[in-house]
Amino acid sequence: MGQLDGKIALVTGGTSGIGLATAHRFAAEGAHVFITGRDQQRLDNAVKEVGNATGVRSDVSDLADLDRLALAIREHGTGLDAVFVNAGIGEFATLDSVGWQDYQKTFNTNVGGVIFTVQKVLPLLNPGAAIVLTGSSSAGNGQPSFGLYAASKAAIRSLGRTWAGELVGRGIRVNTIVPGPTETPGLGGLVPDNPQALFQQLATGIPMGRIGRPEEIANAALFLVSDQSSFMTGSEIFVDGGAEQI
Ligand code: NAD
Repeated sequence: MGQLDGKIALVTGGTSGIGLATAHRFAAEGAHVFITGRDQQRLDNAVKEVGNATGVRSDVSDLADLDRLALAIREHGTGLDAVFVNAGIGEFATLDSVGWQDYQKTFNTNVGGVIFTVQKVLPLLNPGAAIVLTGSSSAGNGQPSFGLYAASKAAIRSLGRTWAGELVGRGIRVNTIVPGPTETPGLGGLVPDNPQALFQQLATGIPMGRIGRPEEIANAALFLVSDQSSFMTGSEIFVDGGAEQI
């Protein structure tokens, strides 16, 4: 028996990295998984790979797209039991170089995209549903050039705490995963010429001597949407190889 047999899950940004690994994990545990992403071809590939899945092309920073997503789930007729709010972007930008457009892009995706994804699917959540947000260890580790991204992820950690209190009376749990550096196309894409060099450099700051694998974040997501975490809400789980946690 799977831990999510008969459950319906949503994974935003499920075409790559942590989201794709989590869609696989949820489906392997018996869930039907709605996967979102911006690129139809990548979405089709992910749905094919994952198997028990439905793809909905949807940009989290576009309210009309989020309405379409909610409609697609509504038409499925089953509601949602698990929501992994994962879609996000990162970019290097120092205080000297950061532009207003960088700010808007990062915050519209990483903060607005999270707020309005959750708002739009909230009426579709079944009793006992669980929401998992995706923070980042960058929020508190002071790494140079990550200010914009770090601030957007600090906001997620605050939203997780707040929404846990707002939704507890409706029987909905909200928890946050705080990944450390994880080997994904998104992280590697920050240094497209030599992603391995970036991964190795980041590993030097981690007590376990390596960065994370997407499957290791997916395991935490599974725990937080499953009944195994039934007494947890408003919590944060760090999955970061023992890095200093702030
Ligand atoms: P990734 O780039 O490999 O995957 C991100 C996914 O989000 C992709 O499917 C992408 O298409 C999607 N996405 C991006 N913007 C979107 C938008 N506007 N609308 C819909 N989908 C969108 O990245 P990843 O490393 O797997 O990151 C996943 C999440 O984990 C992000 O929120 C990221 O900030 C967070 N995170 C990653 C790391 C890391 O080191 N990789 C560490 C901490 C937190």
